[in-house]
Amino acid sequence: MDKKELFDAFDGFSQNLMITLAEIEAMKKQVQSLLEENTALRLENDKLRTRLTQLEQETPVKSSKQGKKYIESIYHDGFHICNDYYGQRRENDEECMFCMEVLDRE
Ligand SMILES: [Zn+2]
Repeated sequence: MDKKELFDAFDGFSQNLMITLAEIEAMKKQVQSLLEENTALRLENDKLRTRLTQLEQETPVKSSKQGKKYIESIYHDGFHICNDYYGQRRENDEECMFCMEVLDRE
């Protein structure tokens, strides 16, 4: 293999790597948006369940311990539970004032 062939091989190799990297980035973004969508749906589902329980009992439930635990676990999984960022990932596990308000309120 002469030098030119060697460098051509390297060029091809690094180009492939760049393409693979871009593909991995795109997949990562897809997984992230799926996770966010999933979390938003979980939160929505929980709200509907709570509402359904209230309707079934015909008397409003003041607060549901189970519901609170569920919301907390979503927050600790690293997602927003506040209305502002509802279902989005909390970058680097940062604390969110709005989420804290929700946790205190529930
Ligand atoms: Zn938040």
